Amino acid sequence: MPKKNLARYRSKRTFTTTKEPKGTGRPRKSGAMFVVQKHDASHLHYDFRFAYRGVLKSWAIPKGISSKLGEKHLAVPTEDHPLAYAHFEGVIPEGNYGAGPVMVWDIGTYTNIKRDNGKLVPLSTCLRKGRIELWLEGSKLKGGYALIRTTRAKTGEQYWLLLKMKDKLANKPFKNTTKSALSGRTLKQIASNT
Ligand code: MN
Repeated sequence: MPKKNLARYRSKRTFTTTKEPKGTGRPRKSGAMFVVQKHDASHLHYDFRFAYRGVLKSWAIPKGISSKLGEKHLAVPTEDHPLAYAHFEGVIPEGNYGAGPVMVWDIGTYTNIKRDNGKLVPLSTCLRKGRIELWLEGSKLKGGYALIRTTRAKTGEQYWLLLKMKDKLANKPFKNTTKSALSGRTLKQIASNT
């Protein structure tokens, strides 16, 4: 299954020129890992990804993630990425898809906390229904975050939103926002010495 899931990812990239992982080999046990990568491509954005069934489910967040209650940020679904991508930090060379520096802004573990009438809803159902609630334990992101798919009434167009859920960790500013959770480097440092 991961092979099939990664077809779109691979079709966009030339692995002889970019150091991004190809995602070959057997998928290791994914655990419940999430990662947020800061990516200065044609537009600066953040990529939110979490491990699910051997791949990283992925959304691009143009405005980044907010810890503030009530702030809903647009999240654009992107192709599944290989699990190894969670540790990718470096520069995607000119001429490649998504060219520009990538920094691991945050990395950690997640727990599915979506409940319906007190009963935990399987993540597969959450993904299908477009209502995902995750408890994040990262170095920056902590607590409940929701990814919600919404349909515009007039056009029928679908889009996703990422938002902080109400808990005691809401509205607390993030720490070390400019530095990598893996290497401590800034995006500028990554851009200049890879
Ligand atoms: Mn990206």
